Amino acid sequence: MRTDKSEAKPENKAEAKAAAEALRKPGSRKGREHAIRGIPVSPGIAIGLVFVTTEVPTEVPRRHVVAEQAEAEKQRLADAVALSRKQLGKLKTRLSVLPEEAQEELAPLLDAYVMMLGNSRLLRGARKRIETELLAAETAVGDEAEAIAALILAAKDDDKPGLQRRAGEVREIARRLTRNLTATPFRSLKGVPEGAILVAEELTPADAALLDPARIAGVATDEGGADGHTAIMLRALGIPAILGATGLSESAERGDMAVLDGAAGTIVLRPGDKAREVGRQALAAFAKERTKLSKLRRLPAVTTDGEPVELQANLEIPAELPLIAQSGAIGIGLLRTEFLFMNRDDLPDEEAQLAAYTQVVEAMGEDPVTIRVLDWGGEKDMQALSEGVAPTHSGPNPALGLRGLRLLLKRPELLEAQFAAILRVAERGNVRILLPMVTNPSEVKAAREIYEKVARRLRRKGVPVREKLPDLGVMIETPGAALAADAIALEADFFAIGTNDLAMYTLAVDRAEAEVSHLYDPLHPAVLRLMQFATEAALRLRMPVSVCGEMAGNPRLVPLLLGLGIRCLSMNASAIPRVKQMVRALDIGDCARFARRVMEQSDPARIHELVLGFTPGGDRG
Ligand code: PEP
Ligand code: MG
Repeated sequence: MRTDKSEAKPENKAEAKAAAEALRKPGSRKGREHAIRGIPVSPGIAIGLVFVTTEVPTEVPRRHVVAEQAEAEKQRLADAVALSRKQLGKLKTRLSVLPEEAQEELAPLLDAYVMMLGNSRLLRGARKRIETELLAAETAVGDEAEAIAALILAAKDDDKPGLQRRAGEVREIARRLTRNLTATPFRSLKGVPEGAILVAEELTPADAALLDPARIAGVATDEGGADGHTAIMLRALGIPAILGATGLSESAERGDMAVLDGAAGTIVLRPGDKAREVGRQALAAFAKERTKLSKLRRLPAVTTDGEPVELQANLEIPAELPLIAQSGAIGIGLLRTEFLFMNRDDLPDEEAQLAAYTQVVEAMGEDPVTIRVLDWGGEKDMQALSEGVAPTHSGPNPALGLRGLRLLLKRPELLEAQFAAILRVAERGNVRILLPMVTNPSEVKAAREIYEKVARRLRRKGVPVREKLPDLGVMIETPGAALAADAIALEADFFAIGTNDLAMYTLAVDRAEAEVSHLYDPLHPAVLRLMQFATEAALRLRMPVSVCGEMAGNPRLVPLLLGLGIRCLSMNASAIPRVKQMVRALDIGDCARFARRVMEQSDPARIHELVLGFTPGGDRG
């Protein structure tokens, strides 16, 4: 995991100068140290210069439209206004978590922005320019904002700083509109300077997949939750990161120095000498600890009383393969295939999928690789699918809609291509297949029929497919699946418990939403009882069962998971050494007694206390 980023230097003098001279946003507390707290999602320290992605790309091309397109352009503008209002409204509701000083500064500014998104001169002017000059919406907004700013600055008023602030506010709201009109953040991320700390209002999982951990020192965003896919992707890439840092993108400016601590969940903008020194020391301590942990790589994951535990890696993108090799993981317990479908306008065909799976399976040699078929939907939006294959996704509750296996059964050609590619690669290694977002035994049955049909078709074509097909397993990640686990177990070859979604659906709390992140709790007794029920259903049939949600990578939760009977954990590769260290300190009898005590509790706070209070070897009572 690349977390020991060295302190970044500006790429060259021109960039340093540009950063220093960068236009300061209105309302910013120029030059002052400012610490912001967010949700810790990926450990590591980053010290570097901030790059704010919310800045509009400098080269938004001027565009004209034909008369017939004017109405559509006005609608685009209206959509961007609605989105901007939503973004600002969200920010406003979360102001209360900021220090009072920051609230006082931001609240009037946000009011001014929201007003400009009403029946303002800016919007009236922009609409008029679309109609009369036949300009594209972003060009019309830009032109109108510049015209208004010029008028403000030319006013006869002695309060020059006041005039500049007002002109800046108009330009700022125009920038937000333009950004929402030209939303292509994944393309603009390519220009991030080396060693930068990326700051954004929000980052989608697809955006995160494009980040190069060798170039980006850290990531911090205003939005997002600890177990959303953006967080998972950042952890996978080993990029120190915090999400849900309210007000950050309003306070940070391009070229600011910052110290980010991904484990503590803090970012200090414009740090003074003391904060920089603290950051440097934390960086050194992190590197030392990592070296210590790397010594565990070759040691077996066995408890003190000799019980082996399988520790596997989750894989988001093939770029992680070297990290997995260094981690000591024995196989891949969850290969999320979504990466194949991200950041493209078409679908990957069977051959393209085969090439990607082959790279992974060959890299893993004899070790098992569990490939999960596409889990599209919810927060994992993918252009090629949302705009082409299943345009119904954006209903009122995408997480409850056509997600995972539901989509694949509705569009069996997608599932067939994926099964075919996986069956072909299975000849080269030790492969299993996993079905996401299952709620019904009949869905598993339907998927198996397609699976067997694809195998027969391949054999007819002379493609070698072994007699016994690779095991077909089921993600237990909805309360429905957990409570029907005994029935689903009869249709499945193995279970993988997805605690990220299981917690989300059980508690009705969006895993990627900063505003409700305090309610997202996989240790809630309701979640634990569902896990216990599903685990026992599998164990009764002697069927393999693993946990592959983010819980599996938290060393503190290992005693509980082993105590519940789990013997296989799949997690992001960087978590494996710490989890292994814990496994090697545990006694299975202690774990079982501890799990019984936890499962007697009905108060989540008490469960947290017990988990925090557990010490290996100290629970013999
Ligand atoms: C889960 O839901 O716990 C899981 C492992 O799947 P994903 O995070 O990809 O939804
Ligand atoms: Mg899931």
